[in-house]
Amino acid sequence: MEQIIIIGTGCAGLTAAIYTGRANFSPLVLEGRQPGGQLTTTTEVENFPGFPEGIDGSELIMKMHAQAERFGARFQYGSVDEYEHLNGMNRVKVDGQWIETKALIIASGASARWLGLDREKELVGHGLTSCATCDGAFYRNVPVCVVGGGDSACEEAGFLTRFASKVTLIHRRDSLRASRIMADRVLANPKIEPLWNSAIEEYLTDEHGEMCGVKLKNLQTGTSSTLDVKCVFVAIGHVPNTAPFVGKLAMDEEGYLTPVHGTAMNLPGVFAAGDVSDREYRQAITAAGMGCAAAISAERWLAGL
Ligand code: NAP
Repeated sequence: MEQIIIIGTGCAGLTAAIYTGRANFSPLVLEGRQPGGQLTTTTEVENFPGFPEGIDGSELIMKMHAQAERFGARFQYGSVDEYEHLNGMNRVKVDGQWIETKALIIASGASARWLGLDREKELVGHGLTSCATCDGAFYRNVPVCVVGGGDSACEEAGFLTRFASKVTLIHRRDSLRASRIMADRVLANPKIEPLWNSAIEEYLTDEHGEMCGVKLKNLQTGTSSTLDVKCVFVAIGHVPNTAPFVGKLAMDEEGYLTPVHGTAMNLPGVFAAGDVSDREYRQAITAAGMGCAAAISAERWLAGL
């Protein structure tokens, strides 16, 4: 029987691990399918307080990981397939094996959302990706496109200009959702061309099954066109990783966990932190703050048992 299990090793999970570790609970931290979370797929983090020059996303995560280990957090690879609440106890199935715990902090984050077009799954790795940091360098001196109008799309587009000959930013409206500073940067970049009011209708592939272009639809005029690109970077937001908790924990219609008070969920001993329960802010620093809050709430709940 564990005292505290933390699901996830992004900003929220690692902050919860630092706090509960420092409080001597020796938490078991489950790394999840994407160890380190979304920050490991980003480049420079410019808005995390304490780093005036910015810090690489992976480096920030590695520092948090080391800090949690220093205070006795134990890390285990694997992701949660199932969850149950039985006789006042919580238990999670990790790669086929049940582990019981008194308190559970869910910081399982969110995964990239896809467009839902034909052949999408099979094209991932063949010119379709959601991670510019991971795959951008493969596309040197060729045209690529980014889909989306938020901070992620702008960040990806800017990063890709280091490699690609041209970056087309395809957005379904005629103004960006991104923060002002990110949007201004993108619109001022001569290597980035925005394509407004447009949506991808179809991925086009060559005889080897590799991406060679996209069929586009202008959402205002209804006209179709094609664009030659070697890679499509999809950056249209994320979906919360809550599959094991469906029907067991309170969540909204999009699957975000909905705590009943602070970070406390509708079942005793269960707390939620970070992007898995945040549809509004979704920042590294807010995730860290929620991880801290969940840790303190879990500690207080355990003290009252
Ligand atoms: P987001 O803000 O939710 O933006 C998603 C974008 O994708 C929107 O422009 C949306 O269009 C578009 N979109 C959604 N579904 C679509 C579909 N089916 N087809 C085509 N377009 C679609 O997501 P995000 O950019 O990933 O950002 C998530 C959060 O992380 C935000 O809070 C953001 O501030 C934060 N973030 C911050 C930084 C930073 O500060 N450095 C970097 C990255 C992310 P509409 O605009 O029309 O809805």
